[in-house]
Amino acid sequence: MIPYGKQSIDSIDIKSVVDVLESDMLTQGPMVPKFEELLSEKFGSKYATVFNSATSALHAACLSMGIGKGDSVWTSPISFVASANCVLYTGAKVDFVDIDYNTVNIDSSALERKLEKAKALDELPKAIIAVHFSGFPCNLEEISRICKIYNVKLIEDASHAIGATYKNSLIGSCTYSDITIFSFHPVKIITTGEGGAAMTNDQFLDENLKLLRSHGITKDRSKFCNPSGDEGGWNYQQLLLGYNYRMTDIQAALGISQLSKLNKFIDRRNKICEWYNNNLKDLPVSLPASADDRQSSNHLYVIKLDKTDRSRLDVYNFLVKSGVGVNVHYIPIVNQPYYKNMGFFPHDYPNAQSYYKVALTLPIFPDISEPELQYVIEKLWESLR
Ligand SMILES: *Cc1c(COP(=O)(O)O)cnc(C)c1O
Repeated sequence: MIPYGKQSIDSIDIKSVVDVLESDMLTQGPMVPKFEELLSEKFGSKYATVFNSATSALHAACLSMGIGKGDSVWTSPISFVASANCVLYTGAKVDFVDIDYNTVNIDSSALERKLEKAKALDELPKAIIAVHFSGFPCNLEEISRICKIYNVKLIEDASHAIGATYKNSLIGSCTYSDITIFSFHPVKIITTGEGGAAMTNDQFLDENLKLLRSHGITKDRSKFCNPSGDEGGWNYQQLLLGYNYRMTDIQAALGISQLSKLNKFIDRRNKICEWYNNNLKDLPVSLPASADDRQSSNHLYVIKLDKTDRSRLDVYNFLVKSGVGVNVHYIPIVNQPYYKNMGFFPHDYPNAQSYYKVALTLPIFPDISEPELQYVIEKLWESLR
């Protein structure tokens, strides 16, 4: 079976991990701060904090802004459930803004209308979590402009968008947002096995993120409350309720090695995307969105079966039976039983539902071979004939 996505690991990655295993520190050693330094250098943010997952990073991002009971945060219904669950962990309420059918990202005019209504009711959210679906950047300038009008914070869920660019800056620079989240899960662009990062240019948020990652504890005397003279070098203080959301040095070493190959991975993904675009343009399907002012990282290659009578289920079953590991990203979060039980109605998000009916993710990952790609195209033609 050709999977829809897969990590790319070479002997240098393996050696980096083995080196840490043979060193003194498996966790809380030198690799985590080094990885953070390289991340902020590469993406152009002042700070980076790595976590044991993007889900943890999203949770900590919400908490770092003081989000909790009585607050609300809005996100996109077409995302992985973690984009919404992270809000619920804090005790705040989550709500959704429908997508733009073409880009599959949050619809910025729907966002503006919903904020206007919320303001009248004095129910403005504290933050928006904008998801760069499939690696195609959201309309960040517009979303950031709208958020500023209503004094709403902006978090980018860039789990898909490592290596994507928007108006000549890399996603992760936080040019338009307060915090940007990356995921290093193996199906994403670069991997640490499990892992994530929170990028920011805000020192206050960064300090909170680092405290939240490790029990709320600091060893930095300058941050202590009531520094007391009779405590020695063993002293540490817990300043807030944090978690154990730390990344290990084993993972960070893999991350450092993977980061050095990011440009290569993105070039390859772009080539595969171009190749798909050329070979699928005569099929009765809609191809992924593109725009002159942004470049997708092409984490997912999603076509829409919206110009054919063939059902998505039939096409899906045919391809899987043929060994092509297609997938569907995503079942709208509001369709999940847990969210339905909270009172969400799927039909309140018509674009998300129309998209979900026809979406199909084709295999895309750096190590996919030319014959494998040929085979995917062949079977896709066959399924739609
Ligand atoms: C993968 C993913 C996450 C969660 O990432 P983990 O690192 O697995 O916790 C969150 N949001 C989106 C959009 C994702 O694709």
